[in-house]
Amino acid sequence: MKLILLGPPGAGKGTQAKRLEDKYGFVQLSTGDMLRAAVAAGTETGKKAEAIMARGELVPNEVVVGIIAERIEQPDVAKGYILDGFPRNVAQAEALDEMLKGKGTALDAVVELVVDDGILLKRIETRAAETVGGARADDNAEALKKRLAVYHEQTAPLSAYYKGKGRLKAVDGMKEMDEVTRQIEAALGL
Ligand code: AMP
Repeated sequence: MKLILLGPPGAGKGTQAKRLEDKYGFVQLSTGDMLRAAVAAGTETGKKAEAIMARGELVPNEVVVGIIAERIEQPDVAKGYILDGFPRNVAQAEALDEMLKGKGTALDAVVELVVDDGILLKRIETRAAETVGGARADDNAEALKKRLAVYHEQTAPLSAYYKGKGRLKAVDGMKEMDEVTRQIEAALGL
């Protein structure tokens, strides 16, 4: 199963991806986690990405496309994977399509966690308040709001992109966590 989890920051993509990983063995591939690891390790990629991420902006497409291209070649993703936080814009989605086509394969589904913006902003503010001085440099209210704005500008058009390809499955992300998991499983026929 090759899957994309689509949805704004705070929609619960990471939580749901982890659950699917634990239950079905599809590997969660989070470009955000990979970039944070690169920043922590002080690699060239990490150095390029650090300030951009702290502002809540997107790192250059070629950086994340390169990371994913390498990662999906690894043997541990044989059962499948869940892309969490990638693609983030149409250019990345097109690069992914090309990449998979080159390997003679394609995505199975794109699941969008649909959430209410007003409630999300409240969640974002709570998360920022809870994580003052915490692990993520971009978990302050300003960067989170920027990430939400970037989502609307650049990532939200992916709904229409994948709908046009007949791949999109929308799930109500405002429901309680277990219910969201059940809806994702139903949408995927798991
Ligand atoms: P996330 O953990 O998915 O919220 O990502 C945290 C940050 O990493 C984002 O705000 C971006 O700066 C960067 N990032 C993660 N994934 C991507 C991507 N696919 N394209 C560009 N930037 C990304």
